[in-house]
Amino acid sequence: MLQMRPGCECCDKDLPPEQRGARICSFECTFCADCVAGVLGGRCPNCGGELLRRPVRPADRLARFPASTRRKLKAEGCAAAA
Ligand SMILES: [Zn+2]
Ligand SMILES: [Zn+2]
Repeated sequence: MLQMRPGCECCDKDLPPEQRGARICSFECTFCADCVAGVLGGRCPNCGGELLRRPVRPADRLARFPASTRRKLKAEGCAAAA
């Protein structure tokens, strides 16, 4: 099951689990669409993998399967994958 992390690792923008706009890699590194299209160039800066749209979790399922609240933020900021 996806963790559905609450914010972008680059800019800390909120990424609610019931809204589109979040992008994740296979390890669930989580970023907003703006950072992915901009500075990241579509690649995860942590693992170099693809960043794809995170599926939305329907609100009625969130009650039983809550999204993660643990916020992750890259202290050094984001740069494109090497
Ligand atoms: Zn961002
Ligand atoms: Zn990654």
